Amino acid sequence: SLILGIETSCDETAAAVVRDGRQIVSNVVSSQIESHKRFGGVVPEIASRHHVEQMTYIIEAALQEADAEFSDLDAIAVTEGPGLVGALLIGVNAAKALAFTRNIPLVGVHHIAGHIYANHLIEELTFPLVTLVVSGGHTELVYMQEHGSYEIIGETRDDAVGEAYDKVARTIGLPYPGGPHIDRLAAEGEETIDLPRAWLEDGSYDFSFSGLKSAVINTLHNAKQKGIELRQEDIAASFQAAAVDVLVTKTMRAVEEKGVDRLLVAGGVAANKGLRKALTDACLDKGITLTIPPLSLCTDNAAMIAAAGAIAFEQGRRSDDRLNGEPGLDLK
Ligand code: ATP
Ligand code: MG
Ligand code: FE
Repeated sequence: SLILGIETSCDETAAAVVRDGRQIVSNVVSSQIESHKRFGGVVPEIASRHHVEQMTYIIEAALQEADAEFSDLDAIAVTEGPGLVGALLIGVNAAKALAFTRNIPLVGVHHIAGHIYANHLIEELTFPLVTLVVSGGHTELVYMQEHGSYEIIGETRDDAVGEAYDKVARTIGLPYPGGPHIDRLAAEGEETIDLPRAWLEDGSYDFSFSGLKSAVINTLHNAKQKGIELRQEDIAASFQAAAVDVLVTKTMRAVEEKGVDRLLVAGGVAANKGLRKALTDACLDKGITLTIPPLSLCTDNAAMIAAAGAIAFEQGRRSDDRLNGEPGLDLK
């Protein structure tokens, strides 16, 4: 099958063409980071406006790079949620307009299913498996027994890990998005600050990162009052060590207790070098097959939406003209 994927849930306008659910034929991403940087985060109104301006060009570019025409497509897959409602609407309406004027089947895709299926573009998924989803808006452990079936066994009770990275980065004066900057600094620093790990109740797979974030802010505040200068590198290294410790420990426990031999990592924070190394070591130790997408497929893109859409399409799922942007869509 040949599937056109469209993604506009946040601040990336993206379109891609994927063959047979696994082969990227083209993958075009237009990032708006420069427009949001001076505000220190994504401004929904600006995001929507960018998507409107970019959408048709990005779709054309994706088709052109794939040397494909609309008549070659078997389906159009589009992110229907979760995300910013105004941003989602641009992609959803573009997809609907194309699907209905050209008579192409339409499939709505959950954004996080897309992040998970970025892994399918790298290695064919085998089941059962566990996925650690770590992105700007989500921190979840997802158990999958087969294609297209998602059971959330743990999730964050407050901040997503990417959000915590970005807030800590902002506190120490790093530009948005701060995750990659913290990651880079952490490699040059040492874990000199003792920060809390939120394990929650015994046996819980849930996460909590707001306490860790506050602890960093308090530590900085107290140090400043005492006239102590903390190195940015050490703050980054200490924060990263605490975040990675909890993520890796809970993930490996889920892998063990669910009895799976396959672990995937998904979402923007999967680009984190500290997390990648810790999971690689833990999986090697336990004989677990680990898949982590390359950096370009960790952050938002439309190839992952086409990949998840291809599975949904094969399973006979179709969307109709009632498809809408769903900011709070559940993964199921
Ligand atoms: P969601 O997918 O939950 O809707 P999103 O699409 O905004 O949210 P992604 O694009 O998947 O999130 O990921 C962006 C997040 O990843 C940002 O918080 C960013 O700081 C973080 N990130 C990117 N690279 C790294 C890195 N190397 N280390 C830590 N965090 C990183
Ligand atoms: Mg983004
Ligand atoms: Fe995302």
